[in-house]
Amino acid sequence: MGIRLKIPKNHVRAASLRKREELIDAEEKGILAKAGLIAHGRGEAFDYILGEATIPAALFATRAAAASLILARHPVLSVNGNTAALVAKETVDLAEAIPADLEVNLFYRDRRRELAVKSTLVKAGASKVLGVGRRASAHIPELFSERRKVDPNGIFSADVILVPLEDGDRTMALKKMGKFVVTIDLNPLSRTSQAADVTIVDNIIRAMPNLTKAVEELRGLSRQELKGILERFDNRRNLSETILFMRDRLTALAKEE
Ligand code: ATP
Repeated sequence: MGIRLKIPKNHVRAASLRKREELIDAEEKGILAKAGLIAHGRGEAFDYILGEATIPAALFATRAAAASLILARHPVLSVNGNTAALVAKETVDLAEAIPADLEVNLFYRDRRRELAVKSTLVKAGASKVLGVGRRASAHIPELFSERRKVDPNGIFSADVILVPLEDGDRTMALKKMGKFVVTIDLNPLSRTSQAADVTIVDNIIRAMPNLTKAVEELRGLSRQELKGILERFDNRRNLSETILFMRDRLTALAKEE
């Protein structure tokens, strides 16, 4: 398939419309589940409120996320259909910069989608992809069906995990396993945003390259300095600032003549 809709370059929502077409294409190729399209729409609504821009609270969280990933003993980046469809190359770049393992982690897991996500990552330059086929043989306690499968050499044994656009039940189960959870989620009110240790409220399209940049910038710091960055970060406070930012932006828009 390919991009079918002709989007005029000067269309005010051209970038967002192009992303929608890419996601439809990914759904047709089996990379993305239909529900992934709906999840994207929920994200877009929050991005509209943010002004489709990275806000200071997101950059602050990005530095804390980078510090935690550099400090990790075994960091793993979880990749679902939306992540593969939108930022495969940027995710591979981040995995190389840290360095971290990449694991296919699907809410709607089936063999075809696992392989489609893996091959998207391999085409984007990944040399090793965990969580596919029999490799996904460990279970997240308290979850049922295919949603609970993880790789014993990946998420199961990781200490720090990046789980972008994740479902709340799984995030909470990962927290109960003692994982340090970093997420990227445009909705500051989602259970994932609220349960994670570090939440970057931003579009994954902007957040992923920002995170790689932060890893490259902070890599030279001592462990003590990195721990200091993490200690100064409070996820609840940062989420509150994000919600207040949204409120203030809406108030300003409402007052515009
Ligand atoms: P939860 O279960 O955590 O309460 P949810 O049911 O909304 O939340 P899902 O639909 O499983 O969660 O996950 C999708 C999440 O990803 C949503 O919160 C949505 O706002 C967010 N999201 C969708 N697209 C993007 C994107 N491009 N960048 C960042 N976040 C996104």
